Amino acid sequence: EQSVAVLFSGGDAPGMNAFLRAVVRLGLNREKIAVLGIRDGYRGLVRTARAVNDDAEALVRLKNDIATHTGRAGLISEQLHIIQMDHASVSGIMGKGGTILGSARCLEFHDKKVRDSVIKLLKSLNVRALVVVGGDGSLTGARLLAQESDLRVIGVPATIDNDLQFTDMALGVDTAVNTLVWAVDHFIDTARSHRRVMVLETMGRASGDLARMAGLASGAEMIITPEGGPLNEEAMKKLAAKIEGAMTRGRGHAIVLVAEGVEFDPPQKRNRAYVLMDAFQQYFQRAGAPFQDLEVRPSVLGHLQRGGHTTPGDCILAARFADHAWKTIQQPDGGSGITALRGNVVEIVPYGEPDMPERAAYSREMELLHDALSSW
Ligand code: ATP
Repeated sequence: EQSVAVLFSGGDAPGMNAFLRAVVRLGLNREKIAVLGIRDGYRGLVRTARAVNDDAEALVRLKNDIATHTGRAGLISEQLHIIQMDHASVSGIMGKGGTILGSARCLEFHDKKVRDSVIKLLKSLNVRALVVVGGDGSLTGARLLAQESDLRVIGVPATIDNDLQFTDMALGVDTAVNTLVWAVDHFIDTARSHRRVMVLETMGRASGDLARMAGLASGAEMIITPEGGPLNEEAMKKLAAKIEGAMTRGRGHAIVLVAEGVEFDPPQKRNRAYVLMDAFQQYFQRAGAPFQDLEVRPSVLGHLQRGGHTTPGDCILAARFADHAWKTIQQPDGGSGITALRGNVVEIVPYGEPDMPERAAYSREMELLHDALSSW
């Protein structure tokens, strides 16, 4: 009997579990095809391939294990990296962050021989399509698998960074923005009480989109994003002067969001929030300055942004991506590709699609809008 396998790779993102639930339920209810859940991303496949590819008896044992350890039994058995998913195994997981199947990074996957071993394994298990859910790197791995074999490989963008330029949104972004708004609200309470400047460092890799979206949604006073180029001393002074100016006009506090991709000239080893804290503090304390007591506090928000209850927006997108993944898999002449959201329409786009110019325009628009809405 043929099946479809699904794995989660790279950094986890809220919405991964909602996607798993949707892809499994659609497989069982609508398509009548079994879904195999792969534990720990590519690493789970590589380890299994190593154990069974050249050992016929081990392969028979694995097939037997998969057939007998369905659903929860498979999830409980830690040794088994391939689990036949059933209805109950995905029940109650939709809103939970992370991924119940686990995600991992797997450096070996850069090696073609290792990818070939995975293709061999999937063929011997009669897998007709593989669904890979993850960020940029994971989707590169998926593209290579699709190019190097006749296996159908469907990629699904999931990363809170929103750094994939072929889709308006990836799974997890909506939840992460929600979490950041919640965090900014908490920091505002203390910033306002102590008349402080809080510098909060957000995730986003090389993209400033997460910081921009969070800035727009939370009303944070300032957003600093990598797209503006490296910050030198002069640029940091200008930012500090802007904050000081607002204080002069009666503003009591400020929340500054700095994206983790922001670079400095000369380069700095410390977290962005700390570099900016020192630069701002130094500026505020210069001789004759009006707000020498103004304090700056840094916070690196880190992995907090990855977790939490998945928003309805991400749950809906997960269901729509799963629907499109199945539609592509079920097309007799359909190939491989990535699910993408474009102007509220879900499409399957080819791997290696060029960046959408609309995405950069949308980012610029958000930044201008944020500036226009800020109170300084
Ligand atoms: P995020 O950016 O959200 O953390 P990601 O998917 O971009 O997610 P990476 O760590 O870049 O995370 O990649 C995850 C895994 O994908 C890698 O550990 C590796 O197994 C595989 N991968 C990444 N790049 C490649 C590549 N060029 N060739 C083959 N496999 C790759």
